[in-house]
Amino acid sequence: MSQPAVHLVYFQHDLRIDDQPCLYAAVQSGFPVIGVYLLPKLEQAKTSWGWQKMGPYRTQFLMESLANLKSDLHALQIPFMVFTDEIASVAARLSQSYQIVHVHASVEPGSEEQQHLDQFLLALHQPPLTLYHDKPLLHPDAYPWLLTDLPLRYTDARIRIEQRIVVKPCLPPLPPASPIQTSNDDWQRFLEAHPPMPLFIKGGSKEAKMHLQDYFFGVKAILTYKETRNELDGFSNSSKLSPALSLGLLSPRWIYWQLKEVEATLKKNQSTYWLWFELLWRDYFYYLHLKAKDRFFMLTGMMNRQIPWQQHHKSIEAVLNGTTGYPLVDANLKELFTTGWMSNRGRQNVASFLSKILNLDWRWGASLFEHYLIDYDASSNYGNWQYVSGVGVDPREDRIFNISLQAKKYDPLGTYVKKWLPALKAIPAPLIYQPWRMTALEMALYQCQLPQQYPWPIVDDARVQLR
Ligand code: FAD
Repeated sequence: MSQPAVHLVYFQHDLRIDDQPCLYAAVQSGFPVIGVYLLPKLEQAKTSWGWQKMGPYRTQFLMESLANLKSDLHALQIPFMVFTDEIASVAARLSQSYQIVHVHASVEPGSEEQQHLDQFLLALHQPPLTLYHDKPLLHPDAYPWLLTDLPLRYTDARIRIEQRIVVKPCLPPLPPASPIQTSNDDWQRFLEAHPPMPLFIKGGSKEAKMHLQDYFFGVKAILTYKETRNELDGFSNSSKLSPALSLGLLSPRWIYWQLKEVEATLKKNQSTYWLWFELLWRDYFYYLHLKAKDRFFMLTGMMNRQIPWQQHHKSIEAVLNGTTGYPLVDANLKELFTTGWMSNRGRQNVASFLSKILNLDWRWGASLFEHYLIDYDASSNYGNWQYVSGVGVDPREDRIFNISLQAKKYDPLGTYVKKWLPALKAIPAPLIYQPWRMTALEMALYQCQLPQQYPWPIVDDARVQLR
């Protein structure tokens, strides 16, 4: 019996059924549709720094998101298969059950993702492929320049975009596809290899939609976003949309049109504008990555700057243990290692401290974030790390965060630091940000002996203040 002809949707960071251009086009073809997800071997392999690219939080978030997608696609009569096998063997297994006449996939800016897709297509004997720009909010057609002319200053880019914003409408809901039999995949094996663990935010597009609904229309925290977005702590102080965006559980267009709904039905204010402004940052790093290709991951960065990085063992150990002796940095590291999350303010301070004070190779820090962050996104992570460490597109390359001042400003009572560093819990602010300044009497009074209960700073305060 000959295999049935099917259209294949090659899922990547677009794990949803709503407003999903690849899936929409495949179903519109009238052919039966199958969905495939290849868990890239590289994600599980060790990096040269000694850890896996994808750590436990991201793995769990991905697993929950794939499970949700499986069930949503099942309701549309679309089998969804998850593979952990080598690409060539996956292609061979699929070819035994189906005649793949067309492949639909989203454009990915990273060359690793592009290579995986190329290998997959080659192993399938090159069926026709259609690519879709799903990741950014604004389709390339909406931009008033060619990719090669993308301005190297975000502000220049934003000013020009703001004059002609064209966001596509969301696609209509999908009808069920023609029924087709499923084939064996590696899903069970993947589940068994990763026992479930609780996360601070649940995976899957269903949860992501509920979260958006609550943030916009339930607690309505969107209306005060501009005032709260820089907080170090507090679930509703920023949108927490990045985990959903990183796996494409919601399309950025969906978020945009919901935001317009907020403006039409609740209020239009600086906060609603600011969320849109932040989403443009995400777009900017996406297009920058697409333009820079592998330069995005090079030591000298987008701007080709030579900086004498120093991989001191002592610095590395202190970062990995969250014991740099700078409470704001240590508290943020502890939060990241314990939950897979760090606020934007925390990320900026930690990245600045690691790259500009400890002079650690910025790619080491970026890779550490890649492993731990639940919302890891290659373009946003490596783009921001370059930006903060001075090799990227920040026009103020010498900008450096004064850690103690930042702590005083964004955690005036030390509440955040005390949450993650209980050894410091009795020290009042502002002393808590510079515990090395405690006298012997204060150490006794606040029950925190340095260095037994909290380390001396890894670099001296004067050096941090001066730079
Ligand atoms: P909100 O403040 O609510 O912002 C809304 C959305 O706008 C975010 O979800 C995100 O999609 C986008 N956005 C906001 N700020 C930025 C920014 N600076 N760059 C790009 N997009 C932005 N973001 C990631 O999504 N993945 C990463 O791996 C990542 N790594 C980072 C590493 C460093 C060193 C720094 C400084 C920033 C990084 N960011 C990353 C950007 C930013 O910190 C997060 O997007 C943000 O903290 C996510 O929280 P939120 O969704 O509550 O953000």
